[in-house]
Amino acid sequence: MTSVKMISFFLGVSLFWNTLATAVEPLVVGVIARYDEHGAGIPFETAINLGVDAIQIKAPFPENRTQEVADEILAKCREKGIVITSMQSGFTGESYKTIPAVRETVGLVPRATRAERMEQFRSVCDFAKLLGLDTVCFHIGFIPHDPLDPDFADVVEMTKVLCDYAKGNGQKIHLETGQEPGDVLVTFIKATERDNLFVNFDPANLILYGCADPLETLKTVAPYVKSVHCKDAVWAKNKGVDWGTEVPFGEGDVNAKLFLQILHDTGFEGALIVERENRGDPERQALEAKRAAELIKTLKAEIWK
Ligand code: MG
Repeated sequence: MTSVKMISFFLGVSLFWNTLATAVEPLVVGVIARYDEHGAGIPFETAINLGVDAIQIKAPFPENRTQEVADEILAKCREKGIVITSMQSGFTGESYKTIPAVRETVGLVPRATRAERMEQFRSVCDFAKLLGLDTVCFHIGFIPHDPLDPDFADVVEMTKVLCDYAKGNGQKIHLETGQEPGDVLVTFIKATERDNLFVNFDPANLILYGCADPLETLKTVAPYVKSVHCKDAVWAKNKGVDWGTEVPFGEGDVNAKLFLQILHDTGFEGALIVERENRGDPERQALEAKRAAELIKTLKAEIWK
């Protein structure tokens, strides 16, 4: 075989596997996994040995966004028969300690880090492409609730640029819910005038931030919901001031069964990804995520008959 033919052969094999990596079956159940310490999620090796069918993978640190790491992740998932549904991006310097800390540090809204984070996000899209992924999710930050706020227009413009970059990679962007009511999110998405911008709906975040009723919000944003985090939480006494409390899916105020029923009724066909935080106790985190995945499979069989 000539060297040109060999290169073509290996490129063909690589494209073949990458195509497989994007073949996500509707309503597949999985967990969030992290390759390194960048962001929360279940450690990758633990996640792929939990017995789940899918993972959503956190973007690793910039130094790990390489072809070698992508090949390693793909090979290990293939070995276990696990599909990767999408990538979740995050940024260095973000803090989720308090609600004001989120406002000041998370996503594209804080002015001081905008340029740097735009660049970071492009690099995450490129790494997701190496994994054959067509979707990147992220927290955009606290979008101003008033569309006349200058920051609203600024964030719309930045999002347009990122959507166009992702589109060049054949990708969609999913905005994670939590910091704004459903009507604000719909207004924001419409303002971007982009057809590759959707929602990763996390019902627990709306409770944790004390923002809005999660199931009513789901009905409002349903046409844009292409992926979900199955996460649960209990309301804080001082809603919107103190954090609510995150609990295993099915044990909080979300109403897990009704959440899945509304997804069914609104024609949702994306992945059902369990999110369980609690990084201080990784064994418990993994166990509770596995239990939640089993609960979802049971409910799914009842609801999607
Ligand atoms: Mg989430």
